[in-house]
Amino acid sequence: MNKEKELKRIAEAIKKCKKCILWKTRNNTVPGEGPANARIIAIGQAPGANEDMTGRPFIGRAGKLLTQLLEMAGMDRKKVFITSPVKCFPPKNRKPTKKEVFLCLPYLKNQIKIINPQKIILLGEVAFKLFFPEKRMKDFRGKWLIQDNKNYFISYHPAAGIRFQKFKKILEKDFKKLR
Ligand code: SF4
Repeated sequence: MNKEKELKRIAEAIKKCKKCILWKTRNNTVPGEGPANARIIAIGQAPGANEDMTGRPFIGRAGKLLTQLLEMAGMDRKKVFITSPVKCFPPKNRKPTKKEVFLCLPYLKNQIKIINPQKIILLGEVAFKLFFPEKRMKDFRGKWLIQDNKNYFISYHPAAGIRFQKFKKILEKDFKKLR
């Protein structure tokens, strides 16, 4: 399988996607970016306004913080595939609805299948619940969980760290543990 080609095929499908109402207000789709053979995938919530304008994930203030956090963990952002379960901007930066996540999720699942990473970093409640709907995030934040031969690391969404210093400190502590 040519992983790059497969990921491009998914990105093209996302570009044309009209499965949920978010297609009506988007400027760009944001499929995610990073190497097709990445060993790590980081999953957030949904694109924000900056991402919508550029089509690139995590490029605003939260994105800058994510880059710093990855560096603290000894990871080069360029080697991580960064994406989210929803590929279009929810207006006013609202949380995506369950329906939007449900309709968009097959794209993320296919990306994970193709990349087949060893580790997945779940950033925030939306990402966590996709993989562990029966568990409470607060019980596992800052910890690893293993499921289906993959390692999942759980932390807050970097946007929380932008809004509140307290969360930024926790994020930094969590990512240092990742080292
Ligand atoms: S958010 Fe996902 S399901 Fe909705 S239109 Fe965009 S790509 Fe399609």
